[in-house]
Amino acid sequence: MPLIEKIEQAVDILRRSAVVVVFSGAGMSAESGIPTFRDPGGIWDQFDPEELGTGSGLLHTLTRHPDRIRSFLEATIDIFLSAKPNPGHVALGVMERMGYVRTVITQNVDNLHQEAGNSRVLEMHGNLFRQRCLACGKKQVSEKTSYLLHIRRALERIGRLDLNAVLRELPQCRCGSPMRPDVVMFGEQVQDMPESFLEADSCSAMLVLGTSGVVYPAAALPQKAKQAGAKVIEINPGDSVYSGIADVQIPEKTGRVLPEILKRLQDA
Ligand code: NAD
Ligand code: ZN
Repeated sequence: MPLIEKIEQAVDILRRSAVVVVFSGAGMSAESGIPTFRDPGGIWDQFDPEELGTGSGLLHTLTRHPDRIRSFLEATIDIFLSAKPNPGHVALGVMERMGYVRTVITQNVDNLHQEAGNSRVLEMHGNLFRQRCLACGKKQVSEKTSYLLHIRRALERIGRLDLNAVLRELPQCRCGSPMRPDVVMFGEQVQDMPESFLEADSCSAMLVLGTSGVVYPAAALPQKAKQAGAKVIEINPGDSVYSGIADVQIPEKTGRVLPEILKRLQDA
């Protein structure tokens, strides 16, 4: 079926659905310059997500290969400093204001849905620009650019990167303990889980955007929505596990398709 017809089908479903929920993954932010885990050519070809994405892996790498942590931080700071919401994020922000999107559930930690104007965002894997106290659990939000520039300056100042240096540079909680980035590492418990499953259970349509569907438990949300009777619309130019359940599957980039969908909703 031609792309245009698939887009029309998706628009038709969205118009007839009382409650639309978005479920997004790393592909949603690919056009903002943030590499996904599994697509080739990004920083994950140079760095091992397992090595840097678990607490024990991180400690091990910090002790054995501190330069690898330094290069990783330098690369990611540059990526996040220049990442802005892409046309797909912007379209979702407008769709919320028009009453077409109730909630965005995301696996991304980049804050781009909020920057694009979505007000109800559930972040199952946390947020890179929020910190959580290691002792009392209190959370605080940092302004993105100043937080990234603070880390960049600290890296320039620190000679040898080790655990003590890292702990010294982490923001301090009022209780006196260091605060870590509030992101979910491999093996840690996901955030906003009951709310996210409730959203999936109660929506009439789910837009599944740029996720390969292999990171659980988040990846189970589209099935949950489908079982509860919702229509599933998937936008992803690559492979994913949702072909069996999607009512409409659009094999294209979200930054291209979502503005097209929005245009048609606005013309209604
Ligand atoms: P993934 O890397 O497993 O899969 C990305 C998916 O996006 C692929 O299916 C790919 O085909 C698709 N894709 C690539 N470009 C796209 C585009 N322009 N439009 C639409 N789809 C596109 O990502 P995942 O399923 O989200 O799981 C990876 C985990 O990594 C998540 O848990 C997430 O927390 C984390 N992560 C987050 C970010 C971020 O915050 N931006 C970036 C990388 C990884
Ligand atoms: Zn504290």
